[in-house]
Amino acid sequence: MKSNVKTENFQKSAVYIFKFVIFVFLFIASAIALLLLSSNASYPCGIADIVFKAPFSTVSYADDSSSGEPLYIVIDAGHGGEDGGAVSDSGIVEKDINLDIAFTLYELLKTSDYIPVMIRTEDRLMYEAGQENQKKQNDISNRITLAKEYNNSIFVSIHQNKFPIKKYKGFQVYYSKNNPQSEVLAKIAQNNIKSYLQEDNNREIKKADKNIRILDSLDMPAILAECGFLSNNEEAELLNTKEYRNKIAYLLYGSIIQYAKEYEDGKL
Ligand SMILES: [Zn+2]
Repeated sequence: MKSNVKTENFQKSAVYIFKFVIFVFLFIASAIALLLLSSNASYPCGIADIVFKAPFSTVSYADDSSSGEPLYIVIDAGHGGEDGGAVSDSGIVEKDINLDIAFTLYELLKTSDYIPVMIRTEDRLMYEAGQENQKKQNDISNRITLAKEYNNSIFVSIHQNKFPIKKYKGFQVYYSKNNPQSEVLAKIAQNNIKSYLQEDNNREIKKADKNIRILDSLDMPAILAECGFLSNNEEAELLNTKEYRNKIAYLLYGSIIQYAKEYEDGKL
C-alpha cells in the first residue's frame, strides 16, 4: 500500500511538473512573439514608415506658421451679374470666362493640401440688399471683406483684358505691393504661362496701383491674373474654348502649388 501511495504521489508530481513546463514554454513563446511583433514596427517597410514617407505631406505650410491655421486659396472670379466686364467683338463676356476658369482652379485645388474658397460662385455682383446705389464700389468692398476673413491665405483674382488696339494679346499678372510674396507668386505664374502655353509672351508682371482697389486693400500674397485680351479676336476665340480655359486654370493651379511648396521648403 505504501509503495502504491508513493507511486501515486510521484505520478501527481510528474503531472504538475509537466503542466508547469508547458506553462513556462507557452509564456516564453508568447514573450518571443510579442518581441518580434514590436520589433516589426521599426522595420523599414513597416506601415508607420510608409505613412511618414508618403510623397505628399498632409501637413500644409500653414502649420509652420505661428497661427497653425490651414492655408486657404481665395479665388475671386472678377465681375458678374450686370457687370459683364470686357466683351469681345463676337460677344464673349469676361464675367463668364472668369467664373469658368475660377471653378476649374477651385476643383484642381481641392486635390491639394490647401483649402480653396470661391468669392463668387454664380453670375452676380457681390453687393447686398440696400447697397444698390453704388453696386460696383460695394461689390469690391464686399469681396475685400470676404477675402480678409481668411488670415492665412493666398488671393488670386481672375480677369480678362481689353485694349483699343486689337493686336495686343497675352496673359499678364498684377501683384499687390502690400506683401513681398505677391511679386514672387506673380513671377511664378507669369513664367509658367510663358514656358508651357505662350512662348512668345514677353509681358512682365506689374505692381498694381490704387486703381486695382482689391489688390491695394489686401495684405496676404495677392495677384490678379489678366488671362488674355478679349479685344484680340484670336485670343478671344481661344478663351471661348473649354480646353484653353482648362490650360490656364491648370497652370495657375501648378503655380500656386509651386509657390506654396517652395515657401514650405524655405526657398522663398
Ligand atoms: Zn476684369
